[in-house]
Amino acid sequence: MTLDPVSIGGAIASLKNIVDLVKNANDAQLSLKVSKEFMEVQGQLFDFQQKALAVQQRNYDLEGELRRYKSFVFHHSVYWHSPPDKPEDGPFCPICFGEDREMRLILRGPHVDSERLIFACVKSHVENPGKRAEMGATTEPRYNIPKELIPADRYSPR
Ligand SMILES: [Zn+2]
Repeated sequence: MTLDPVSIGGAIASLKNIVDLVKNANDAQLSLKVSKEFMEVQGQLFDFQQKALAVQQRNYDLEGELRRYKSFVFHHSVYWHSPPDKPEDGPFCPICFGEDREMRLILRGPHVDSERLIFACVKSHVENPGKRAEMGATTEPRYNIPKELIPADRYSPR
């Protein structure tokens, strides 16, 4: 038997058939004994079925996560959405990405060298008492992204 909820359901149905056959044999004692055994095996199969379903769900979740990671690339300290056959889109906050959130960074202004743009996350990462505080970070993380990576129409004032 494979770890498959459907085939487990089939096994339970087969067991029921056996119980019915024994009942038709008109042996009350045997019938009772088989019914008891059946209940026990059925319980175990149901447990097994629940576990199989949980494994399937976990597998589905992990596949989704894997697809998400595959369609993102990391460069210039930030994440970029890079699906096949489409232009790269971004930047996305690397801290949020690490926390399972796809948060688009917002433009804070041009860098003094005029070759780059300054981006920051709308979500505050300073008050987070975790790692960043330990590292002594007291200001919002900012990311300097080369201008040529950002389509001109995306962040221009409207
Ligand atoms: Zn963020």
